[in-house]
Amino acid sequence: MQLLVVEDDPSIADALCAGLVREGFTVQHVATGAAALAAEPGDLVLLDLGLPDLDGRVVCRELRAASAVPIIVVTARGDEIDRVSLLEIGADDYVVKPFGFRELVARIGAVLRRTTVGADTSADAGKIDTIDLGWLQIDARRRRVEVDGSEVSLTPKEYDLIAYLASDAGAILHREEIIRRVWDENWWGSTKTLDVHVASLRKKIGADRIRTVRGVGFGLADDGDDGRRADGSP
Ligand code: CA
Repeated sequence: MQLLVVEDDPSIADALCAGLVREGFTVQHVATGAAALAAEPGDLVLLDLGLPDLDGRVVCRELRAASAVPIIVVTARGDEIDRVSLLEIGADDYVVKPFGFRELVARIGAVLRRTTVGADTSADAGKIDTIDLGWLQIDARRRRVEVDGSEVSLTPKEYDLIAYLASDAGAILHREEIIRRVWDENWWGSTKTLDVHVASLRKKIGADRIRTVRGVGFGLADDGDDGRRADGSP
């Protein structure tokens, strides 16, 4: 596993990188936003938001626009961090300075596990290689989604969300279960995060494709393309 550590404070960076190397990671360290954007992101990026040259949020958004690499943002205590907006810039998780090294390693492990779900043999929805609902095709190995025959560009979390909903299309899946599967059992955000992602997904795939049962959860339409509706509705 190769990590890109973006941290301008040498006293933090030296200890952090040495610790991560001891944990078995290959570590590349850069100290500026510009260097981060020019670097090979590897398997995961640890991104300090307080950088000398660029706003860390801008760096995060640009990293996310360029690749699906998981990003853990490092914030300073007292930073005005709106957690939903952190998600919107594409961060997968965050830690607040000063953080414990063990905590950080655990977060890295959790993010890597859940972001590689579509690509390996985990017990989650990623077991299914392809899903075909007629209007929706998902190729889990390539994390590609087509709606009505056209490829749709999704963020990594939007992809995880639609893949999970599609694994049981037609059913209403509970909010807590969706959050647990798509994010993390220890998810730090409010459940508003889920609504934000559902809203952005609806914009991309069509509002009526995701059904809402208020206070309960969401379900993906398995519309007219097949007749398997158990309720026998016309
Ligand atoms: Ca800093």
